[in-house]
Amino acid sequence: MDETYDVVVVGAGVSGIGAACHLARSCPDESVLVLEARERVGGTWDLFRYPGVRSDSSMFTYAYDFAPWPGPTALAEGADILDYLEGTARAYGLDRRVRLGHRVVRAAWSSGDERWRVTVRHAGADGGETESQVVCRFLWVCTGYYRYDHGHLPALAGREDFTGRVVHPQAWPADLDMAGRDVVVVGSGATAVTLVPALVDRGARVTMLQRSPSYVASVPRTDPGRRARLRGVVTQTGLYALSRRAPRLVRAGLLRDAARRLPRGYDVATHFTPRYDPWDQRLCVAPDGDLFAAISTGRAEVVTDTVDRLVAGGVRTETGRVLPADVVVTATGLELLALGGLELVVDGEVVDPAGRLAWRGLMLEGVPNCALTLGYSAASWTLRADLVARFVTRLLGTMRRRGLATVTPLAPTRPQQRRPLLALRAGYVLRDAARLPSQGSRHPWVVRQDPVRERLSFALRRRTTGLRLERSHGAGSGAR
Ligand SMILES: Cc1cc2nc3c(=O)[nH]c(=O)nc-3n(C[C@H](O)[C@H](O)[C@H](O)COP(=O)(O)OP(=O)(O)OC[C@H]3O[C@@H](n4cnc5c(N)ncnc54)[C@H](O)[C@@H]3O)c2cc1C
Repeated sequence: MDETYDVVVVGAGVSGIGAACHLARSCPDESVLVLEARERVGGTWDLFRYPGVRSDSSMFTYAYDFAPWPGPTALAEGADILDYLEGTARAYGLDRRVRLGHRVVRAAWSSGDERWRVTVRHAGADGGETESQVVCRFLWVCTGYYRYDHGHLPALAGREDFTGRVVHPQAWPADLDMAGRDVVVVGSGATAVTLVPALVDRGARVTMLQRSPSYVASVPRTDPGRRARLRGVVTQTGLYALSRRAPRLVRAGLLRDAARRLPRGYDVATHFTPRYDPWDQRLCVAPDGDLFAAISTGRAEVVTDTVDRLVAGGVRTETGRVLPADVVVTATGLELLALGGLELVVDGEVVDPAGRLAWRGLMLEGVPNCALTLGYSAASWTLRADLVARFVTRLLGTMRRRGLATVTPLAPTRPQQRRPLLALRAGYVLRDAARLPSQGSRHPWVVRQDPVRERLSFALRRRTTGLRLERSHGAGSGAR
């Protein structure tokens, strides 16, 4: 007899823990199993261990709405975020519901028995790998958006000549001592901007080698005031909206602040003035201006140039400069992956998530009883993860009350312009966006990077527009 659950949640990162806690709070009658591939919960915050790893959005908005962030630190270290996530999971009894070391490789829906059959790979009794299956009514995919086994690795010519170590932030070696080392960090995104001051603090001399600059905003590390969450939402949403409407104003403010924090005469135009508008790509933040402070000490330098090749003692750039390096860090981003790589099958047909439209960014057209959690990219991820979780738990409650068995997003009735679900023009998003589902151009197929408007829309608009809800075996309530 197969183990059967009402809901299987795949993944126990921020989204999966949040989904399971919301289920525990709002749907205590549903039986829930969480399947997590890694040996620990926390996802991103367990995987990334590079020096200085931290949040770049305020924890007062990144924390769940039902579990306020403790303490005054707005931009928190990875280890503290992991503690918070583990503590929240424990508080909601998830240790009894999560199966660690269980990777979901396939989920197959059968309309005949209105169930998902989920295939899971895990360690067997003999220590080798084995497969088993569980069955569920509803599948909730919380697998994030990137692959865990490796990050994006650009081809680096001359790697065999280089005598030092090449390290990717996604696989940071625990034994790497940075004191007295020359380090070249290749990249200009959030990870590079975080690493540079942290490596300087650990005694390294650091060069950040960037092909093109990013905007870097100095943000207070702590927020001891009251109503920090509300202030966080308003500030994030307001800055994003202002960046869309008055990009030149925001740009001028950011550049003026950078110039003020850098040594007199520093070339802000070359190293901190991007070719794009603020928030076309995720804005990098520097807690209390730490990146600018690191540069001002003279132990960190920004070089805007392109890697030509690695040479014995460092990195040669296209303009012919050789940057000395004992360690090269490839802070070159992530590789996008839809649905944690699991194969999704509906009535024997494999569903390619790439290109499928996502209803409100959270259910795939034509796929019954399945939700995905993808958070905001231009605001705290969790603001949307909470919104999705509240929607899904209400939907499950409604289905249970009304005796409904299935919910399926129908193909849109009006033509839609397809756009990437992740609304960022970061290099890795542009490179791989076609691997993820798409959003459309009209309600209910659009995701707005605006927590306030989305919240209103979820509250005020008819909840089931575009969905087909049916009783068991098509007896049909047909709500649309
Ligand atoms: C270094 C870094 C810093 C970031 N900082 C911020 C920030 O400050 N603010 C912000 O809003 N966003 C930030 N982000 C984005 C971040 O990814 C999200 O905030 C959030 O952590 C995503 O949570 P998630 O649970 O959806 O995905 P993840 O954290 O990626 O977790 C997914 C989980 O699913 C598991 N999984 C995947 N596939 C399977 C499978 N097939 N079977 C079983 N389990 C599976 C994984 O092992 C993992 O535990 C950051 C990202 C990175 C990389």
